[in-house]
Amino acid sequence: MPTNWTIDGVKEALAAKKISARELTADFYKRIESRNRELNAYLTLSPERARRQTDRIDALVAEGKPLPLLAGVPVAVKDVISTRGIKTTCGSKILENYVPPYDATAVERLEAAGAVILGKTNCDEFAMGSSNENSAYGPVKNPLAEDRVPGGSSGGSAAVVAAGLAVASLGTDTGGSIRQPGSFCGIPAMMGSYGRVSRYGLIAFASSLDRIGPFASNVRDVAAILRVIAGRDPHDSTSTTVPVPDYRAELGKAVKGLRLGIPKEYFAEGMDAGERKKIEAGMEVFEKLGCQLVDIRMPHTDYAIAAYYIIATAEASSNLARYDGVRYGLRVDDESLLAMYRRTRGAGFGAEVKRRIVLGAYYLKGQKVRSLIAQDFRDAFKKVDAILTPTSPVPPFKLGERTDDPLQMYLADIYTVTGSLAGVPGISVPCGKIDEKLPVGMQILAGAFLEARVLALAHAFEQAGGAAV
Ligand code: GLN
Repeated sequence: MPTNWTIDGVKEALAAKKISARELTADFYKRIESRNRELNAYLTLSPERARRQTDRIDALVAEGKPLPLLAGVPVAVKDVISTRGIKTTCGSKILENYVPPYDATAVERLEAAGAVILGKTNCDEFAMGSSNENSAYGPVKNPLAEDRVPGGSSGGSAAVVAAGLAVASLGTDTGGSIRQPGSFCGIPAMMGSYGRVSRYGLIAFASSLDRIGPFASNVRDVAAILRVIAGRDPHDSTSTTVPVPDYRAELGKAVKGLRLGIPKEYFAEGMDAGERKKIEAGMEVFEKLGCQLVDIRMPHTDYAIAAYYIIATAEASSNLARYDGVRYGLRVDDESLLAMYRRTRGAGFGAEVKRRIVLGAYYLKGQKVRSLIAQDFRDAFKKVDAILTPTSPVPPFKLGERTDDPLQMYLADIYTVTGSLAGVPGISVPCGKIDEKLPVGMQILAGAFLEARVLALAHAFEQAGGAAV
């Protein structure tokens, strides 16, 4: 049986009755069984729920009914996204036994479009991290280089797709957590504009930054998943009514003549030399496609990490206040209420989460810098149609290499936090491998709600061989 399924491939095979949804899912579970122990990418499998869905799809095939867009497509969901009846731990001890009573809107929409949910993926605790090493359930290995991290915080979601243990997956991006693991695992990964995808059922890290988005093995599949999950949801007042185009239909749009900004500030010292070479080779691919590269300045970039870590931690400490042993999850009893809170939170949260609760001050200053960074983007988009940058300053690093130095870890987010703060859409697409081993990702950013342009550029790049520069 093939292991490199695409969404179209699954649909064709089902329609031609070459395979049933049940058989396809069983084959994925078989592979998960043999590979997951090593990778630690799935935390929970949901075979019963998958079975109900494959039965539904196989019945449609048997009745000769039209198949929905994602019919029978095996997908995985990051463990910070609520799934009814399936444990959702956020990679934390404090929610070790939490089973949500409802589905996130994105999950509901995936299933309504025919997707089969295989299980929940490992991640940094409450999505706080860049390497997946902050999970209470152990790190995930990068399937392309098992001594290395898969990136984070959606490390499991990236790893399962890269290892062929799901056709696509959902992750979340607050400051890079979709784009960076996509880059580290050599697959395309996208966050839409803030508000593009409902956050209903996403367990909050930093509410003004959190976004749900897809991982897949190719840009066309990323476009399909994004289309399914995007759009207004009355359960999330920040989800937008801006219409959702058929992203796949827009993929063929000409990119010739587009002006692509290259911000000088993103190529400063600290960038890995091998990484730089690949990104430069990737830029040549865009030039060959007829795009025009334009040098631009984004002067507030240097302050982005500080602003991001102030805003994200302040919002996190407020969001995490609800884990007090009263309503959800873990409780460690003690004589007084305060002592119970203290012991519950002391035992339930890991070191990184505690560090962030303490860091969450200076919110207003952070917001001021955030608006300057958003202004940098608005100014840039007066001159150019999109912006190209590396996704990460460094390729996947070794497991354990940065865990003792939080600042080093935070600096790995330097190229992704800006787009997060500005609310604009961005994708990471594979852009070659250093020494034919370590994946590099090219980030493409455009103005708010110009997802179709981001996807068209990424698709053209992929089709022109960008992944093999
Ligand atoms: N690495 C960043 C952080 O630790 C981003 C995490 C994310 O996007 N969820 O906050």
